[in-house]
Amino acid sequence: MRRESHLSRHNADHGITRVVSFDVDGTIVESAFNDVIWLQVIPELYGRIHDIAFAEARQHVTRAYEAIGEYDVRWYQLDYWLDRFQLGVTQEELLRRHGHHVRAYPDAVDAVRRLRDRFILIVNSGMSDEFIRVKLEQVGLREHFQHLFSAVSLFHVVKTHHYYQRMCELLQVSPAEIVHVGDHYDYDYVAARRAGLQAWFLQRDGGSRQGPFVVSDLREFADHFNEGDGLEAPNSDHRPRGEVR
Ligand SMILES: [Mg+2]
Repeated sequence: MRRESHLSRHNADHGITRVVSFDVDGTIVESAFNDVIWLQVIPELYGRIHDIAFAEARQHVTRAYEAIGEYDVRWYQLDYWLDRFQLGVTQEELLRRHGHHVRAYPDAVDAVRRLRDRFILIVNSGMSDEFIRVKLEQVGLREHFQHLFSAVSLFHVVKTHHYYQRMCELLQVSPAEIVHVGDHYDYDYVAARRAGLQAWFLQRDGGSRQGPFVVSDLREFADHFNEGDGLEAPNSDHRPRGEVR
């Protein structure tokens, strides 16, 4: 752990952060809503259409998900799955119907309220625009974010470093002026840092990664933004820091 030395370093770097970027699922809202959609609602619809029991339907759809995997952009595209399984419902209908299952993490609500007046808040999610919008509206946080970026809706990709670079171009902000935080080590930490953003890894589940840019909740994350602080200097090499492992 090198928290002490990191804090003293970033205290010397003032005012470089203009934008704070959040991942959505597992970061602002609980992933339980996704589980409801993917593991409950879709298997139910699938079972009804094919006239098979829920357990069998669930086994079928989860096998199809696993064959695609989380590193394939189709994994995140609800409309792809609705179309593939021919479920006869649009993603908008489905999301509105089940939106009441969305829950925000209390520490996320707290962090957004603490940071919204001092920074431009945005989100960068791997899920579609519709998914992001429904979730943020349901938990009453939509109005605090100036931009909602969806890797899949914008560029049909997962969150790679190329994605973050293109997002920065759209936003017309230098990567070094953006802090990003999220709960996926590769997509939110490694890729964002490689693109030159100041990335933080949110490890809510008590996992084993350690380092100055690892936090266990978003209150701890927001605590790093003392008045006048810029958090950290831009990286010279834009690669993941060795301290986090
Ligand atoms: Mg996430």
